[in-house]
Amino acid sequence: MTVRIWGETERLNEVTQLIRTLDATLSAELETSDIYAINQNKNGIVSDLTIELINKALYYSAETDGAFDPTIYPLVCQWRSAADTPPTPNLEPIGYQNISISGDEITLKSESALDFGGIGKGFAAQKSVELLKESEVEAAILSLGGNVQTLGAKPDGSKWAIGIADPSAPNEHIAVVEFEGSMALVTSGSYQRYYEIGGEKYHHILNPKTGYPAENELASVTILTQNGTMADAFSTALFVMGLEKASEFWRSRNDFDAVFILKDGSIMATDGAALLLKECEFTVIER
Ligand code: AMP
Ligand code: MG
Repeated sequence: MTVRIWGETERLNEVTQLIRTLDATLSAELETSDIYAINQNKNGIVSDLTIELINKALYYSAETDGAFDPTIYPLVCQWRSAADTPPTPNLEPIGYQNISISGDEITLKSESALDFGGIGKGFAAQKSVELLKESEVEAAILSLGGNVQTLGAKPDGSKWAIGIADPSAPNEHIAVVEFEGSMALVTSGSYQRYYEIGGEKYHHILNPKTGYPAENELASVTILTQNGTMADAFSTALFVMGLEKASEFWRSRNDFDAVFILKDGSIMATDGAALLLKECEFTVIER
């Protein structure tokens, strides 16, 4: 992670501490985390921050009709542990309806398990920005592996300029987004992480309805919006939906924009995103 702050820089420690705490609380892999305990016991009391994240995750699951689903963990484990042949996905434990919340207590239906890999970084960036907003910080930019969030105007008067990775050469950018002020930009791409099974690559964004890696014309989706948590949940969800459903989803609401990189290298941008895109050719998706 990279955090850059202009103005009251003593806030930097608080932000890095917050991000470390979130990572330690929300990781499905760390044996000491809230989520690890819930996944083991299917029940438990969790911190306010964890409740807040679970509530948001449930909300975005419902909004995306389950394309984003934090109960994906059993499938992640199936894919991760397959060595020679791809697994036959077990969809039984999958479904955000399997999570219930009562006060600060979480209960899962048996066999369900949680994974906040699709929303956690965006939530961490969003909470960090909220923390910084309470102080006299002039401007900030946070970058958590593929998630970028800015706060305020860049102090030198120039615009923020954030690259979108080229899926076929992830260390280079295929486009640049230029804007003023606060925004979250979150990219989900099949190039970011994958499992190697029997010599084949299977990427890490799973379709909760099939249990297989989402296969469509997309190589990546970048969401542009004010809220980092939403940007992260939607980037994963729209990747699962594919271009046509994702475009329809965008038309059905007014709270984000998106840039789609297709497998053939072409770029499509919703009308709001199109106004900010530089250094590339693209097709505009109209309302
Ligand atoms: P992202 O990079 O934000 O798209 O998140 C991908 C990560 O989220 C994966 O590595 C999984 O841990 C998890 N994940 C995969 N598929 C989904 C899904 N459909 N909904 C929610 N989380 C997912
Ligand atoms: Mg995501």
